[in-house]
Amino acid sequence: MIQDCSACGDKVSSEATICPHCGHPNKYEWKPVSGFFAVINTLIGFGLFFFVLIMIIIVIFS
Ligand SMILES: [Zn+2]
Repeated sequence: MIQDCSACGDKVSSEATICPHCGHPNKYEWKPVSGFFAVINTLIGFGLFFFVLIMIIIVIFS
């Protein structure tokens, strides 16, 4: 699918991560990528939180 670049107005493929004419990031490709990393960061944050919580509980009840 071909769309217009939001920065320079040239034709850009929707599968391109950046505009080949001006280098502007393709927002239709970048949003799901940044969302994916946000989900991973949230999962890692929750994992560390529960790990510390479990360690504290083990120390208190041992
Ligand atoms: Zn462009």
